Formats: sequence, structure tokens, C-alpha cells
Amino acid sequence: MSGVVARFGKSADVKHIDRDLAKIHPVMRGAVCEVVLMCEAECLNFGMFEGFRSPQRQKHIYLQGRVQSRPGQIVTQHQAWHSYHQFGLAVDFALVVDGEFAFETPENYCQWIRLREIGEMYGLEGIEGEAGHLQYAGLELAQLRKGSYPGGGDPGWWENLRHALDSYPLSVPPKAPASRNA
Ligand SMILES: [Zn+2]
Repeated sequence: MSGVVARFGKSADVKHIDRDLAKIHPVMRGAVCEVVLMCEAECLNFGMFEGFRSPQRQKHIYLQGRVQSRPGQIVTQHQAWHSYHQFGLAVDFALVVDGEFAFETPENYCQWIRLREIGEMYGLEGIEGEAGHLQYAGLELAQLRKGSYPGGGDPGWWENLRHALDSYPLSVPPKAPASRNA
């Protein structure tokens, strides 16, 4: 097994839920930590359910409910490379109850509204229809797809993204950042 496969092998496993903060862009990583701390201060027990999501996994999730071989509810409107998760710029949060992740219900929905408000305090934004999803605000997907990323990227984030781009290329490959700190 090559070093790259050994290091990134799990990212192409479409069922693998990645919670590795190192694969999240540093600006997003900082905001995620602030959100978790602020939630704790308000006795809201939110944790990171999923961070980086490979384009292979995004495609897998997108097909659920859309092809005969993948019955079930439609869970996302976003195809591969159309979600901020592929760029390490989105995180899905979930409540942690008795050590298990728990999702939104009519009874706990006010907590998810507060999660989004807290995210907005730290430069994040929600998207319609996904209560636990927060992404870095003020970006354009089209720009991300062209390789224009927020400044402050680090090697852990970039090497993971580069591996994803190599293993599942965008139709128009983006340019690499001018430097790792671009
Ligand atoms: Zn999400």
C-alpha cells in the first residue's frame, strides 16, 4: 500500500464519516471549536458529526432515493464538488446524548436554531433544509470550484483536498493555491 493510500484510504470509503479536524480548513476549524465551546457554555451538547466529505461519498449520498438500487429518502440536493464539505469548509453538527449522536426532532428543534445563531456569531452560515450544517460564510461555490480558497490554508487541509481532487477530478481542475498560505 502506498503512503498516500495508507494515509487517505478511508476518504474514498463512501460509508466513512470523517471527523478529522485536520482535514478542515484552519479558518473553519477555528470557528468550529468556538461554536462547540459556546454551545457548551450554554449547556447545548453539540459535537462534530461529519467534517470533510469526499466527493465519492457526496455522490453516494446524492444518489440515495434517486436511483432504483439506492432506495430511501433524498438526503442532499448537492452533487459531488457542490458541497462545501468537499473543500473542508463545512461541518455537520449533531447533539450528543448519552454518548450517541442524536438528530433534530420537533421537541429539540429550538436547540438547532440556537446552534445556527451561534455559528453565525463566528462567521458561519446554515443552509436550507439541513439543521446541523454550518459552512464558512461569504464564499461562492463557483469560486471554490475554480480553486479560490480562503487564506490561511495549512498542509493538512491542502494535502487532503489535493488528494480528493486527484482521486475525483472536477470537470475543470482548479489551480493549486499560490502557496500553502494562499
Ligand atoms: Zn452538511
